Amino acid sequence: MEIITTPDPRLREKSTKVNKITDETRKIVDDMVKNSLEWEKQHPYELSAAMAAPQLGYLKRIIIVREDMEDKKNNSFLALIDPEVIKTEGKMIKDYEGCLSVPNIYGLVPRPAKARIKAKLIDGTEVRIKAEDSLARTLLHEIDHLEGVLFIDHIKDQKDAWFELDDKGEIVPIDYETRVKNNKELFPDD
Ligand SMILES: [Zn+2]
Repeated sequence: MEIITTPDPRLREKSTKVNKITDETRKIVDDMVKNSLEWEKQHPYELSAAMAAPQLGYLKRIIIVREDMEDKKNNSFLALIDPEVIKTEGKMIKDYEGCLSVPNIYGLVPRPAKARIKAKLIDGTEVRIKAEDSLARTLLHEIDHLEGVLFIDHIKDQKDAWFELDDKGEIVPIDYETRVKNNKELFPDD
């Protein structure tokens, strides 16, 4: 199992609801955690904060989120099944986002400051999460994946919103005209 990347069409599909949590659901979650940590080992400057099931080719509404996004040594993830955005609030804030499925590219993406999410835990318990700031951003990014939406879609035509990591792990701008605009890997349908 490998993390799939743009322009794989599976990243553009809408995932189906899990409804009943089974052994298969638990296996998918285990795979997601394993692959997130594996990816992180190969990317020393980056944290694998979260993942959505379609990134491994499972078109199911499952996401995992790192329990402590500040601490790389904490390898625990929270799995959310059938997550739904109930409401977003607050002003739009721009911040950097990256994605395991969009290699080497970062973007300055506008998102609402707060989000209320409803989901099920892996044991079936229903939860509601009031998320702010980076957690809200992460959850909205992952739930987008379940709709076939990527962070790059939110900044498509914004010339100054595109970045990469240099070899020292610093975030630096990339040229929109040469690297983004006609990049068929990013936007194959254009
Ligand atoms: Zn992503």
